[in-house]
Amino acid sequence: MKSYRIRKDDIVKIIAGKDKGKEGKVLKILRKKDRVLVENANKVKRHMRPNPYAQQPGGIIEKEMPLHVSNVMLICPLCHKPTRVSYTYVEAEGKQKKVRVCKECKEVMD
Ligand SMILES: [Zn+2]
Repeated sequence: MKSYRIRKDDIVKIIAGKDKGKEGKVLKILRKKDRVLVENANKVKRHMRPNPYAQQPGGIIEKEMPLHVSNVMLICPLCHKPTRVSYTYVEAEGKQKKVRVCKECKEVMD
């Protein structure tokens, strides 16, 4: 399985598209599509038809659409800079654990 640099609840910066420069929290990772859903980013307006069965009044709703993973950059929770990550192994409870390291501040992120 492909490993992702970005995980759920990470803060990312959008580096391409209409929301370029925005920051937001990752709500969901769509691995199969290489996409991430970012809070308040890439919103589109959808016209909804009233649905009496679901008690939906209809109208326009705003919905976040997933962004391609290459269009976002992880923001380091420690130095707060958009960064790339590398990996290292740390020993935890006698086991080797793979952790992410910020390339900017060289700190372990998780
Ligand atoms: Zn950092």
